Amino acid sequence: GGGVIGRYCDQPQMFPGVAHFHTVRVAQPSGMYYTSEYLRHVCDLWEMRGSGLTNMHGATGDIVLLGTTTPQLEEIFYELTHNMNTDLGGSGSNLRTPAACLGNSRCEWACYDAQELCHQMTNEYQDELHRPAFPYKFKFKFDGCPNGCVASIARSDMSFIGTWRDEIRIDQEAVAAYVGGEIQPNGGAHAAKDWGAFDIEKEVIDLCPTECMWMEDGKLKINDRECTRCMHCLNVMPRALR
Ligand code: SF4
Ligand code: SF4
Repeated sequence: GGGVIGRYCDQPQMFPGVAHFHTVRVAQPSGMYYTSEYLRHVCDLWEMRGSGLTNMHGATGDIVLLGTTTPQLEEIFYELTHNMNTDLGGSGSNLRTPAACLGNSRCEWACYDAQELCHQMTNEYQDELHRPAFPYKFKFKFDGCPNGCVASIARSDMSFIGTWRDEIRIDQEAVAAYVGGEIQPNGGAHAAKDWGAFDIEKEVIDLCPTECMWMEDGKLKINDRECTRCMHCLNVMPRALR
């Protein structure tokens, strides 16, 4: 069923230790927040009932537990669902485990609560994880903004990407502070190397894909109707643009 991928060796007499080596997928917590207690529980479970090998995480986002035998499967499922408050992930032709970025639990760019939507959609479609209702695998992924930290377009069939309804708010004093070198661009992320003085024309305005930004009398202007919401200017000057 969903969440367990059967693996069998075709030479079981020669390699009895891997005669069965099933993979178990486990739903990752929303935003991939773990407690150390939970991780310890996963490791203990897999030491006891599997090979001890794990993959954090698979391409869909699931916790992947590698290598167990058929008699252990029901025991593992019971432990996950009764004692660990989680469930198997998806596999095969059904809904795959939905995944979200950490969204507004930590990120100032989140335009909606990606974790909440992911949680609600998971609960809504949980049955389809185990009782396939889709003719093909189907993935939802939730990005809180167009930065796309869960790469929802590349990794899902239906991607949810937060965006904004109003215009980009510009703090002109902060723009001047970036131009004057008082605030580091990109939150200081590239400060380890000397890139020279910040050049707003070269590093922001010229890179706007729709060419909808310009400077006028020392002030930054944006034609919001033409903004394609690529996030570039917001990423470079997060304290000036909201
Ligand atoms: S996708 Fe956007 S909101 Fe989500 S973590 Fe990344 S930057 Fe933040
Ligand atoms: S978000 Fe992208 S398209 Fe919109 S103004 Fe900024 S750089 Fe231009």
